[in-house]
Amino acid sequence: MTVPAPTTPTDTGIDALILDYNGVKGRQPDTLLWTRLAEVAEWPGHLNAFQDAFWAARDAYDAGELSDLAYWAKVLGYHPGARALRALRAADTAMWIRTDDRVLDLLYRARRPDLRMVLLSNAPHFLSDALDATDWRRDLMTDALYSARLGLCKPDPAAYLHALEATGVDDPGRVLFVDDRTDNCEAAARLGLRTLHYTGDPAALARHLPQAPAATVRCSTDSQLLTG
Ligand SMILES: [Mg+2]
Repeated sequence: MTVPAPTTPTDTGIDALILDYNGVKGRQPDTLLWTRLAEVAEWPGHLNAFQDAFWAARDAYDAGELSDLAYWAKVLGYHPGARALRALRAADTAMWIRTDDRVLDLLYRARRPDLRMVLLSNAPHFLSDALDATDWRRDLMTDALYSARLGLCKPDPAAYLHALEATGVDDPGRVLFVDDRTDNCEAAARLGLRTLHYTGDPAALARHLPQAPAATVRCSTDSQLLTG
């Protein structure tokens, strides 16, 4: 799919972006990945029950309140061994590490020295480390803030204030916050940030991004940045 370049921004005067990960840059896990994780967990019941157990303790895990072992003990109802825990963590990472190249292409094309991009993600420690190791994190993000490291999750107002500070922009009205959850966007708006509730349409994101330098294009086939 070809995504139009951000040529006619509806928001002007944007000095920085604060971007969610999962559901914006990161793709939601499909049934195959959920099934794989449930198999690794040796979950005996229905996938829906596994997902319920997975989510029940996830906020505390995202907030850095639970170790990997403590989290999976809550999900499974028993403490997994070291080898099982490594397998669970690997399968959990695989669920969340896939990116939407259409969104990353847009961000590469919008990139410029005076537009700071800060990642603000609700993510446990292991996933924070995995995301920090990616090329796009290094190439695009001025900074990356993760809930487990902050000790708090969106929509806690303090999370946005940390991210705003990371942008280096004093006026929240000159910062665009992008997230796929309405409650996260509403909390950001209450602090004066501009918001875009992202619903999976890259063209909508393109319309809100500041105009990119025309000479900078990222080749999506090999992730190489070309500057002409
Ligand atoms: Mg999200």
